[in-house]
Amino acid sequence: MRLLPALALGALVLPLAAHANDPHSYAQPEQVVVTHLGLDLKLDFPHRQLDGVATLKLDWKNPKAPALVLDTRELKIASVDAVDANGKTRALKYALAPADKELGSKLTIEAPQHPAQVRIAYVTSPDASGLQWLPPAQTADKQAPFMFSQSESIHARSWVPLQDSPAVRFTYDAHVTAPKNLRVVMSAPNDAKHPLDGDFHFDQPHPIPSYLLAIAAGDIAVKETGPRSAVYAEPSVVDGATREFADTEKMIATAESLYGPYRWGRYDLLVLPPSFPYGGMENPNMTFATPTIIVGDKSLVSVISHELAHSWSGNLVTNAAWRDGWLNEGFTTYVQGRLTEALYGQRQADEETLLAIRALQKKIGQMPANAQKLAPDPRGVDADDALSDVAYDKGSWFLRALEQRFGRKDFDSWLKGYFDRHAWHSITTEQMLADLKPNLIDKYPGKMRWDEVQVWVYGTGIPKDAPTPDSPRFDAIDKQRAAFLAGTLPAAKLDAKDWNTQEWMYFLDRLPDAPTLAQAQAIDAAWHLTGTHNAEIGMRWYVHAIAAGDKAVWPAAAEHMTRIGRLYLTLPVYGAFAKTPAGLAYAEQVYAKAKDGYHPLTQQAVERLFAKAKAKQAAAR
Ligand SMILES: [Zn+2]
Repeated sequence: MRLLPALALGALVLPLAAHANDPHSYAQPEQVVVTHLGLDLKLDFPHRQLDGVATLKLDWKNPKAPALVLDTRELKIASVDAVDANGKTRALKYALAPADKELGSKLTIEAPQHPAQVRIAYVTSPDASGLQWLPPAQTADKQAPFMFSQSESIHARSWVPLQDSPAVRFTYDAHVTAPKNLRVVMSAPNDAKHPLDGDFHFDQPHPIPSYLLAIAAGDIAVKETGPRSAVYAEPSVVDGATREFADTEKMIATAESLYGPYRWGRYDLLVLPPSFPYGGMENPNMTFATPTIIVGDKSLVSVISHELAHSWSGNLVTNAAWRDGWLNEGFTTYVQGRLTEALYGQRQADEETLLAIRALQKKIGQMPANAQKLAPDPRGVDADDALSDVAYDKGSWFLRALEQRFGRKDFDSWLKGYFDRHAWHSITTEQMLADLKPNLIDKYPGKMRWDEVQVWVYGTGIPKDAPTPDSPRFDAIDKQRAAFLAGTLPAAKLDAKDWNTQEWMYFLDRLPDAPTLAQAQAIDAAWHLTGTHNAEIGMRWYVHAIAAGDKAVWPAAAEHMTRIGRLYLTLPVYGAFAKTPAGLAYAEQVYAKAKDGYHPLTQQAVERLFAKAKAKQAAAR
């Protein structure tokens, strides 16, 4: 028999606790909870807007609750009605509060009679933070417009009025109209054979948090990669993507063998235009992915393992608030590593782990103390910033430490049970710990003390005995790099002919921040990194070459920045340019041309970086 009394209770009463813990939502789920969302959307490409009607099914918790409070951002509300059991509507009074910069506008709907459903007609803003509208010129094929959403962390509210907190889970159905010949997909089961008649229906039968609400539309072709998986992408991209992601079915089967059945039905992948700001987004049934991971040798498909892993860690068991983001991202990064190991071998998995933990070690000491914690004090944590390297890489490191202490067999059995015990719920860090204590720590005494767990979760920095994998190949690269920097090994003699993507990343990551101009020129002359189509290598190379003062790389760096809107791959190159006045001026010119192809999140990040660099340069003058 499995022991879970405290936990099951904790999960059931969650909305009460979660509201108090979610400073990023105005919703009051302790008063009333949205259980189902009915969406009717019209995609209006010329005006870059959605005309929407959202019907929310409500479960009133407090008999005296006077109102339904929702999150919105830049929505124009046309009407709000109560809908009775016979479908009859009655207008409700509502108030839209002035916008808060981070949270948007609180929508308070007076509903003392507790209608079973509330229907809201609205229009989104052309600048909605969760939507991007691309003209044909900014797509791969340049034939048709494209649009896509990115709701995580708190951007669903910019395209649907709802309780935008991960603590609230609801099912949804949607009817979407679009221009003929475009395909619409959503974070729900998709039908590859759907006619492109401009009229689409979707039904997500599993309760999901709002940040997993997703939509995209464009000239999208489909190719099967397995019995329950397909790749969706622009016609010119779909074949390459299908080859790169050919292992998808094997990945699903491997994950199932570790953590139990995949519960969502189909697992499809949508490759977005290059402006997608992230590597991937784990939208249920339809992962959204950046094209920058299609490099021809499957060396960057760990992004797909990562998004697939979220089908357990995150989409099935969700963080109740963004402060608990490591429950999503740390667990997922751990599972990703296990999938990489099973599919591509220990060497590849260890290299990916080492790259991440070396980067974290370099960075974590410079972070504010609160940001170094897995479970930070939620006050003052921006919802988008909550998902930092600490959540991903310290989180997964903690799980690897548990695995090492308890052994793979007992740790795996705990983790699988944890996913089962909390399936379809949103939980806090403390609820996770309340599961860990009886089911792993106390069950196998003498392996890890409770105060060690506390240090991992609530402490700063990285515990000294954190396990680090060995990588003889990385050790050899360290030696070669050192010899090259000391001048005893010419660049052409580096043993780099067979380095994979991760090994190049590692070599470049640990160069001095600013190598000498001669060193940069020697590396490029021998290995031709300038102009590479591998954006992971390109980003690292340009950052170092620009810092070395190698102006010859500037045009290729500009091409990289213009081509790629993925934040993690483009922002560091801007950062390298912004360190000198001449570089900053050049980067501003590049940005002026590239800007329209960027997602709003990327635009904001680049503009923030420019403002900071200017302030710094002005102060230095
Ligand atoms: Zn993730």
